[in-house]
Amino acid sequence: MRFSRLLIPTTKETPNDATLASHIFLIRGGFIQSVGGSGLYNFLPLGKKVLDRVRSVVKDELDKAGCQEVSLSFVTPASLWEESGRYEKYGKELLRFKDRKNNEFVLGPTHEEMMVNLVRQSVRSYKQLPLNLYQINLKFRDEIRPRFGLMRGREFLMKDGYSFHTSSEDMKREFDLMEETYKKIFTRLGLEFRVVEADSGAIGGSGSKEFMVLADSGEDTIVVCDACDYGANIEAAVRKEKVCEVEAPEALSGKIHTPDTTTIEALSAFFKTDPFYLVKTVAKRALYDEGKSEVVLFALRGSDELQEVKACNAVHANDLADITEEELKEAGLIAGYMSPTAVPEGIKVVLDNNLKEASSMICGANEKDYHLTGSSFSGLQGDYHDLVAVQEGDLCPCCGSSLRYTKGIEAGHIFQLGTQYSEPLGATFLDENGKAQPMVMGTYGIGVSRLLAAIIEQNHDEKGCIWTRESAPFDLQIIISNIKDGEQVALGEKLYGKLKASGMDVLLDDRKDRFGAKMKDYELLGVPYAVVIGKKLQDGLVEFVRREGLVKEEVPAEDIFDAVIQKV
Ligand code: ATP
Ligand code: MG
Repeated sequence: MRFSRLLIPTTKETPNDATLASHIFLIRGGFIQSVGGSGLYNFLPLGKKVLDRVRSVVKDELDKAGCQEVSLSFVTPASLWEESGRYEKYGKELLRFKDRKNNEFVLGPTHEEMMVNLVRQSVRSYKQLPLNLYQINLKFRDEIRPRFGLMRGREFLMKDGYSFHTSSEDMKREFDLMEETYKKIFTRLGLEFRVVEADSGAIGGSGSKEFMVLADSGEDTIVVCDACDYGANIEAAVRKEKVCEVEAPEALSGKIHTPDTTTIEALSAFFKTDPFYLVKTVAKRALYDEGKSEVVLFALRGSDELQEVKACNAVHANDLADITEEELKEAGLIAGYMSPTAVPEGIKVVLDNNLKEASSMICGANEKDYHLTGSSFSGLQGDYHDLVAVQEGDLCPCCGSSLRYTKGIEAGHIFQLGTQYSEPLGATFLDENGKAQPMVMGTYGIGVSRLLAAIIEQNHDEKGCIWTRESAPFDLQIIISNIKDGEQVALGEKLYGKLKASGMDVLLDDRKDRFGAKMKDYELLGVPYAVVIGKKLQDGLVEFVRREGLVKEEVPAEDIFDAVIQKV
């Protein structure tokens, strides 16, 4: 294509809400355009081209794995969401509206209900299973903080797939196949990524994995082991049981006057003991459906930090909120002196697994200025869960080496779902004995538009984008330095024609602009390779440029066609 004929409105101006390289360069390169409010974007010709290329890699690999593409109605009847029980639960990210007849609808933020509805109407028998159906379509989530451009939009492009099976074993087989397929997709896109254990929400189970594109700008903290393959989202990470070298404090039980000792640090100094032997009690307000809420105490060792997603899942809440001193007082709790063992009636307590059988512990007395020593959890019945946020330096649960944190961008998520949707929505099949059974499901997502941002987060320099081979808007850019120079134009046109005929996707910069401006645009747009036809043509030379590192090489003009074919 000819640059002079394309709509590529590059600009030097950085959008003022943009902090990430991908956000800045996708806008400055004229790939996308922000629409009025936040989190909405138009894709301009170049952006659309990249999006389509990424989409086709996704589609190609899914189709090879036996998945079938469909396209579901974006506008979804609210009744389907009522059937699944999510209409209430989903919260404000779900955009709800009514039509002129007062029927309620939602804009699909994800399409489990819609796909189950499709399948329940068209599948009757075990003979029609398994099935893996997907679409690559718009999603809408009224995100509270849309930001970072395509990374967290409100309207975005997602590949969402759903599989249907006669048994859990068969669903697990498909889950593994999707893991392999996703690996192929991200590898083809040239991404450095890691597959990690993920939080499965209140549904529980171990069957959820995320595909994290490694980048410092990622919003997710992931815990990784360098000695083995272990990796997990901090929300799901576990560690080898922690031990404490320091001896336990004397076990005499008693009530000790501890004025102004309201933090773990102060308490540890007061008792001259390791925080391992102190009980940390964190109060939160758990939020449930229909506006219901309650105060919950989460207790763990003083040396550990509470992981809020784990805590939220432990009480099957929709969310946890912080609590004010006022609310604590109302609940009969004394800030700084709370305890899981001395609790006002009616307050829910959740204990961390590490407290099971713990002894010689020091905890609050739920009385101002007092702590209890020699507390034992031995034989104590309670609601035990894993509540701990794994720290750097904790030990790998698989191999015992040291764990570290890194940052990732969630680009995909695969999930063993079971019958969570098929049961309430009545998606059943007749088994070999003619008995109706709920279908066992898996669900698999990829953030297709987010991938554009992820690719640039991983592949850019201070000048602009560096697209990977299978995501690039063009294979090669030819830059004619001076459009008034007939010789340069002739070579440019000839090379352009020959390369196109050989099947290459080429952008010919035939604009009247200054050479410097054209080079700046080349660096900003990030096509992997370029041929620069400039002054040196008088000596029979042109320049072959590799965008990554801006490595330049002089090539005799008569050899340039062969050189490009060989290098690109
Ligand atoms: P996140 O934790 O980033 O909010 P999620 O867990 O809510 O994502 P899923 O419901 O698993 O996301 O959606 C599948 C995929 O869709 C995600 O892995 C992600 O790549 C993409 N995605 C989710 N929300 C957005 C968004 N607001 N903008 C762009 N892509 C998104
Ligand atoms: Mg997710």
